[in-house]
Amino acid sequence: MTRNPFDLSGKVALVTGANTGIGQGIAVALANAGADVVLTARRDPSETRALVEAAGVRAHVVMADLSSIEPCQRIVDETMGAFGRLDVLVNNAGIIRRSDALEFSEDDWDAVLDTNLKVLFFLCQAAGRHMAAHDGGSIINIASMLTFQGGVRVASYTASKSGVGGLTKLLANEWAAKGINVNAIAPGYIATNNTAALQDDADRNRQILERIPAGRWGEPGDIGGAAVFLASDAAKYVQGHILAVDGGWLAR
Ligand code: NAP
Repeated sequence: MTRNPFDLSGKVALVTGANTGIGQGIAVALANAGADVVLTARRDPSETRALVEAAGVRAHVVMADLSSIEPCQRIVDETMGAFGRLDVLVNNAGIIRRSDALEFSEDDWDAVLDTNLKVLFFLCQAAGRHMAAHDGGSIINIASMLTFQGGVRVASYTASKSGVGGLTKLLANEWAAKGINVNAIAPGYIATNNTAALQDDADRNRQILERIPAGRWGEPGDIGGAAVFLASDAAKYVQGHILAVDGGWLAR
């Protein structure tokens, strides 16, 4: 029987920042498509673990603070120890700091660049070394509308997410021939902790909603289908792509 190319059964997926928000939505979607899922988090991801296991697949938790590259190799090693393989890496963990550019602090610059870009790269490297030496794999980086646009009051976030777009293409160029697909998802405006300040600001909330053709904020689950596709054999010839899942925001 021909295998459904979107079926992730037998694959092991690792999702960072899996305790909440988009990471949780992606972890659950990958589980529903059949993947066993390794959840990395710095806070207890038991809610996500329960949702993944309810899909009938295995979950394993790796506690890790991704503000430095120190845990990157350990995360890959623990994944191998738990499930014996690593097929999919989703680099989702990320932070945002808001301040006018004239006032922007070095701490707000470094913290965001470290987690959103530096750790993302070194986790790609740790996973990529493993994938290159085994059966290949898929890497999905979480980008942003600010991979394409400038934004306001989020200098380090825009720099980091623009960097994620460039890095995704570079890694695709270097690793496609090694059987590693590297792509990104650029979520639009999704209702999570990351965007709580925007949702709570009546003016910004109205401005944002007016521009979204779909007429609503996205939900974490809206990102899951794109992740399943990019993690699957159906996307084998998709390389270095940044897939917007934005309710039409960029089309305006
Ligand atoms: P969120 O609910 O704040 O989730 C962010 C996740 O990253 C959380 O699990 C968080 O853990 C984790 N994280 C942050 N710093 C970490 C660290 N040092 N060590 C370990 N984990 C860490 O926000 P979200 O919206 O789901 O964000 C997920 C990704 O989507 C981020 O990369 C974000 O930039 C991106 N994104 C979001 C939107 C949006 O509209 N929401 C749009 C475009 C892109 P804690 O819960 O412990 O803080």
